Amino acid sequence: MFVRVLGSAAGGGFPQWNCACANCGGMRKGLITASPRTEESIALSADGTTWFLINASPDIRAQIERFDALHPRQSRSTPIQAIFLTNGDLDHCLGLLSLRENHRLVLYATDSVRRGFTEGNVLYRTLQRFADQVTWRTLKPDVEEPVLLADGRPSELTVTAVAVPGKLPIHLEGLVSSGEADVNVGLRFRQLTNGNVLAYFPAVGRITSSVFNALEGAGCVMFDGTFWSSDELSAPGFLAKSAEDLAHCPVGGSEGSLSMLSNIAAPRRVFIHINNTNPMLREDSRERKLVEAARWEVAWDGMEILL
Ligand SMILES: [Zn+2]
Repeated sequence: MFVRVLGSAAGGGFPQWNCACANCGGMRKGLITASPRTEESIALSADGTTWFLINASPDIRAQIERFDALHPRQSRSTPIQAIFLTNGDLDHCLGLLSLRENHRLVLYATDSVRRGFTEGNVLYRTLQRFADQVTWRTLKPDVEEPVLLADGRPSELTVTAVAVPGKLPIHLEGLVSSGEADVNVGLRFRQLTNGNVLAYFPAVGRITSSVFNALEGAGCVMFDGTFWSSDELSAPGFLAKSAEDLAHCPVGGSEGSLSMLSNIAAPRRVFIHINNTNPMLREDSRERKLVEAARWEVAWDGMEILL
């Protein structure tokens, strides 16, 4: 299984357009040791020829251009077979609207995520220019199912969606029920030919027993690295909400993911979906050293993982 990180940042990217925090300001002025990052998305392939995207970030056009394997090989075409959505946040879905150039799309999402994107959304009509422009395939939590190529033939992969504590995207708050378990999922991909597993969990509000179980046996775990601490946005006065309010378990602290996941067996453990405020973005920071000492990696745009 090949994994290519197309984008590793949380919503807003790094640096973020309206932010002059120590990281964003420092990045622009060349004062910190760090790399800019686009918004979170990965490309995944079992055979090196057919590709699947996980999430469609607002940066999708530039992300596709930066990775040769995703370029069309003839006429109007794409090696991208389908796109998986882990939740309905705009940093995961907005890129779909950028793929409106008269091309059929296959999207995997839970019922809640599909409804959140399609219902009452006048912009979705741009993906309904012709019949069957979009084919939705439903991710049912806890059911392992074959991943199909765009033409319906089986790929070498299966996927299991795992419901994870999360929250509604901001634009749906107050409009739809927030109690659906499938508003946010992690994805466990298994390659049939060799049994290798990728566990992809970019937004985890709380580390539940089902999250633990889904990481079991994975060769690579990619996990929510949004915030280092609970008060990362509230302490500097950016937003009066904690990391947990925003449905992200912080990385640091005694209840953080670094501590909670210290015993998982995966040989590759990678934090992704990293907010621009997170101190572990700075390669010489104390926090980065703690991450690396625990044998975790911090995803970067262009990172490749072979499983
Ligand atoms: Zn910032």
